[in-house]
Amino acid sequence: MSVQESYKTLTGAITKSFQEKLSPSEAIDLLQSGHQRFVENTPLKRTRTSLLADAAQGQFPYAAVLGCIDSRVPVEQVFDAAIGELFVARVAGNTVNPDILGSLEYACKYAGSKAILVLGHTACGAIKGAWAGLEDGNLTGLLAQLKPAVETVRAIRSDEASIENIDETVAINVQMVCDRIRQESDILYGLESSGGIAIIGGVYNVSTGHITFLEEGEV
Ligand SMILES: [Zn+2]
Repeated sequence: MSVQESYKTLTGAITKSFQEKLSPSEAIDLLQSGHQRFVENTPLKRTRTSLLADAAQGQFPYAAVLGCIDSRVPVEQVFDAAIGELFVARVAGNTVNPDILGSLEYACKYAGSKAILVLGHTACGAIKGAWAGLEDGNLTGLLAQLKPAVETVRAIRSDEASIENIDETVAINVQMVCDRIRQESDILYGLESSGGIAIIGGVYNVSTGHITFLEEGEV
């Protein structure tokens, strides 16, 4: 039975044996097929009581998603993911810091997730704030994390905070965050290098509800 078939036969939460058998590319397939169900508005029917009862015994999420706090990108919903299926870390601009990296390290090394998806989104307010040079309270330090992507787009495109430049910055930031995960986490870099996990990026379009998954180096 394929992973997709066996996933669809689950009556409750994901089991330890299901997670253990999963490869990184199969975990990405699950993210993509879950997103396809969201796009087609054909969510899987699940029994809440079974999900709760199973997940209370332990969690075996297939992937971890690093998303923005934006209210238009409800992460579990856009992957049609049930209780116990995804670790989700959210911070404005879906950037990394030691706490986020530690959370992702826990998700993959200690809780067995097979993929990390860095999920940006179009029209990101944090990226707009970084373009505008907003400085205020704790936002100053947070938005500074997004500046390298802004500077890259300024250099290769133009100095205008246009919709196109904002969305290009979103995609470049996602790629930069994927690289920072590798550079700043020996644990996650090691897991990726040994084939234990995959690290990929994606951009959710808040107008269409579609995710474009980014290939390595494609921005
Ligand atoms: Zn955002």
